[in-house]
Amino acid sequence: MRPQPEPSAQANTFPKKSIRQTEQRKAVFDALMARTDHPSAVEVFMRVKYRMPSISLATVYNCLETLTASGLVRTVNHEREPSRYCANLQEHAHLFCSDCGSITDIPLHTPMPPEQIWNLPQGVTIAQQEVSFRGLCSVCNSASQDQAHPLKPTVVSSGAN
Ligand SMILES: [Zn+2]
Ligand SMILES: [Zn+2]
Repeated sequence: MRPQPEPSAQANTFPKKSIRQTEQRKAVFDALMARTDHPSAVEVFMRVKYRMPSISLATVYNCLETLTASGLVRTVNHEREPSRYCANLQEHAHLFCSDCGSITDIPLHTPMPPEQIWNLPQGVTIAQQEVSFRGLCSVCNSASQDQAHPLKPTVVSSGAN
């Protein structure tokens, strides 16, 4: 019997061997790990540039490509928006907030392989799963509930000219 890897024990840390660790790659990776808000490449660039003023946007794109190709980082695509990046390697879905556009990680209660979650058609193999939800993030949800029960009546402009 093969030993099962401990699902929650693997922290996503920059590997010493699989890809060459350059200073820029490390800085890009650290920026993604520091805030899990799924930044775009330009947002990553702004964050890294703050610490490493000499870095260019092209270098950040290259680093993100290398990190994605090596499986350390996932791209998150939503409609026609520019790709965003996620360094959370635990199996999770994404909630796209239809109000503010934020992306929230939705973890599984218990990490398990896709064939235990989904009723897969026979003969199908899954290389990667990308599950997305649309809805409201907790901030927008509580804001919309406040609006539904306003404490003060909203002043509506008559629009008369
Ligand atoms: Zn994510
Ligand atoms: Zn929101």
